[in-house]
Amino acid sequence: MNLIFLGPPGAGKGTQAKVLEEKFGYRQISTGDILRRHVAEGTPLGVEAKGYMSRGDLVPDELILRMMDGELEQSSDVILDGFPRNVAQATALDELLARKKRNAVAVLFDVDRDVLTDRLTGRWTHPGSGRTYHAKNNPPKVPEIDDVTGEPLVQRPDDAEETVKNRLAVYDEQTAPLIAYYDDPGDSRLARVDALAPIEKVSRQLIDFVRSHPNGAA
Ligand code: ADP
Ligand code: AMP
Repeated sequence: MNLIFLGPPGAGKGTQAKVLEEKFGYRQISTGDILRRHVAEGTPLGVEAKGYMSRGDLVPDELILRMMDGELEQSSDVILDGFPRNVAQATALDELLARKKRNAVAVLFDVDRDVLTDRLTGRWTHPGSGRTYHAKNNPPKVPEIDDVTGEPLVQRPDDAEETVKNRLAVYDEQTAPLIAYYDDPGDSRLARVDALAPIEKVSRQLIDFVRSHPNGAA
């Protein structure tokens, strides 16, 4: 079973994707991480995407869909983290999944708006792996250093408060409609977790969800 992690920036999607990767062997596909690698390497896609990302706007669908082409080729179950981000991307994903005879369940990270700015402005990221920490909620063993590699952590420029404001507005306008898209009353493909809970409690809900689902564990 493939999982689509849905929720606003800062809801905890990346944190939990890493937990499920470790626990069940899922493969996390984070479109944000892939795009940041393109930007860092200065590829043509990175050059095109950079301005949108630094403003907190969505990168055009055409670029994203081209980038995602092939990501679902491998047979391992995936966690889509940050994709789809609007209805056009969700429709394209459904077509792709149907062609590959695969299915996916969306998991909504339910969270109160007022914790998100603090989570994002306190986030420290390891660029090489996409691992994240939080200055207060989930600090690394040594401040500003990745626990696993010993490499320096960075604060993403788009985690600055002004950009966060736009990212949350973009989420409300373009991504939040996906809740209704997946929660179709006749054929719901949406599960919910309480993402306001501490990190371990969110992990517990997700692990129980995957275990209780037929063919849940990857
Ligand atoms: P997303 O991938 O949804 O944007 P992240 O997983 O990167 O969010 O989490 C955003 C920030 O909040 C990180 O600094 C992370 O350590 C922290 N965080 C994640 N989950 C929780 C939680 N349940 N409670 C408190 N802080 C959290
Ligand atoms: P994230 O790491 O998920 O917070 O994404 C960081 C930024 O990358 C977003 O603000 C967008 O600019 C861009 N991005 C990531 N995923 C997508 C997507 N599926 N569609 C469009 N833009 C995306």
